[in-house]
Amino acid sequence: MYQSDFPIVRTLAAARECAWLNPKLSDAKTALSKLAIGEADVEDARARLARFAPYLAARFPETREAGGLIESPLREIPRMKAALAPDMPGRLFAKLDSDLPIAGSVKARGGIYEVLKHAETLAREGGLLREGDDYAKLCSQEARAFFSNYAVQVGSTGNLGLSIGTMSAALGFRAIVHMSADAKQWKKDLLRAKGVTVLEYEGDYSAAVAEGRKRSDADPASHFVDDENSLDLFLGYAVAAKRLDAQLKALGVPVDAAHPLFVYIPCGVGGGPGGVAFGLKLIYGDSVHVFFVEPVQAPCMLLGLATGLHNQISVTDIGLTGKTHADGLAVGRASGFVGRTVEELLSGEFTLADARLYDYLRSLTDSEGVFAEPSACAAFAGPRGLFALPEGREYIEARGLAPHMENASHIAWLTGGALVPEEARKAYLAVSL
Ligand SMILES: *Cc1c(COP(=O)(O)O)cnc(C)c1O
Repeated sequence: MYQSDFPIVRTLAAARECAWLNPKLSDAKTALSKLAIGEADVEDARARLARFAPYLAARFPETREAGGLIESPLREIPRMKAALAPDMPGRLFAKLDSDLPIAGSVKARGGIYEVLKHAETLAREGGLLREGDDYAKLCSQEARAFFSNYAVQVGSTGNLGLSIGTMSAALGFRAIVHMSADAKQWKKDLLRAKGVTVLEYEGDYSAAVAEGRKRSDADPASHFVDDENSLDLFLGYAVAAKRLDAQLKALGVPVDAAHPLFVYIPCGVGGGPGGVAFGLKLIYGDSVHVFFVEPVQAPCMLLGLATGLHNQISVTDIGLTGKTHADGLAVGRASGFVGRTVEELLSGEFTLADARLYDYLRSLTDSEGVFAEPSACAAFAGPRGLFALPEGREYIEARGLAPHMENASHIAWLTGGALVPEEARKAYLAVSL
């Protein structure tokens, strides 16, 4: 039934790689003015992370050099560009969230932010923190004892669990991560080594989430991190845009109508890429063009946006499996909240077959000496699709961007990788589908 209404759904159902241009894309000002959240909310999140910087610098030495900010480098990758799309005009950069401190993935933005915000709320209510305090005092035994009265729980296939579990346990919370059986063993081991309770479930990811939520709801002292509906997660991700803006300025890379910025981000449930996209549109408006990338078997956000059904439709409803080698992207149903928020902001999407994840992964390692996990490498379907597929050229033409493409910057958002053990990296490099 969905197929007949939307031709794109037929392509998705056939698990064919495709490009989709968002017919609802509006001018940024109009689209943003319709939303209940805005710049003040992102600024509030940024300021909160700044308050926690002294604590993070003290507790996680790897953040000290950046003054306690959890941030990743922006690096130009000309050799990858030559390997990927030699005729592509403009510059190609990688945003290396693969190297984010503490959790080694984009989840170190939203996930850690939500835990910190929850900790701040409790500590202020409990008289442990007062306005103007140096948050480094949260390293104390007293603070840890205080937080041990509370639990933080999350359901996760891996990376969200790593970020929530690690940060919660560091503060002293009882941290419980509910994981599906298919989650990587090394992720479970790593969490347990940090004092996190890892509970495993036979079914898929949604079974882990459902059980986690049930247990958390039954405990008044427990906070459940809701990957699908959390505004805090979303705003934590959105802060990335402000940091990126500073990095682009430092590199002398202009972003304006004559210097367009294209950003390609792998999408799972949507919070990470949605938050980043929202933050970027607030700063750059119509000069930034954000595309999501999803696997052909799990294009949940594309399906929700194209049909307008958001979280009311699952990829299994059109006969797809939802299964993919891209761990963080193996999601059948997108966040409805994120879908409605980016509905008029997103430029479009590209889908890719799993085999390409490994091609890009090898290519990136060979050309630039950079490692990113398979999910993250999906980002490279973006620049390739924009120049190789008819829809990409159509987008450039329809928006009058052709004269500016020589001055364009393209960013592949590499969403994870640093924590992948050496053995697993070797195995990824050897995969060929
Ligand atoms: C979680 C994740 C994503 C996608 O983020 P969502 O918020 O689920 O859309 C992309 N890449 C990696 C490596 C991830 O862990």
